[in-house]
Amino acid sequence: MIKLTTESTAKAIERCRQLKPRVRFIADRTFSVQSANNSNSYTVRFDVKDGEKFGLCECKASERGFVCYHIIGAATANIYRQGLKRQTA
Ligand SMILES: [Zn+2]
Repeated sequence: MIKLTTESTAKAIERCRQLKPRVRFIADRTFSVQSANNSNSYTVRFDVKDGEKFGLCECKASERGFVCYHIIGAATANIYRQGLKRQTA
């Protein structure tokens, strides 16, 4: 898994803003993100260890250790979802 920090996510946040990938919720901390370039969709998973956030995507960039825009798209959806849960709890 790739550690999500301000530095590691900066470029991906920029790409995500431009491409606006479609995100579908699958299970807790698991999302399916539609590629903006082709018909592929990638599964993104999140984990939290010792207060630090980690993400993993199925695409090539993530395989090479980069934070991709799929992870950011899913992270945005995840934050939104956590916020909703908190409001209704
Ligand atoms: Zn990806």
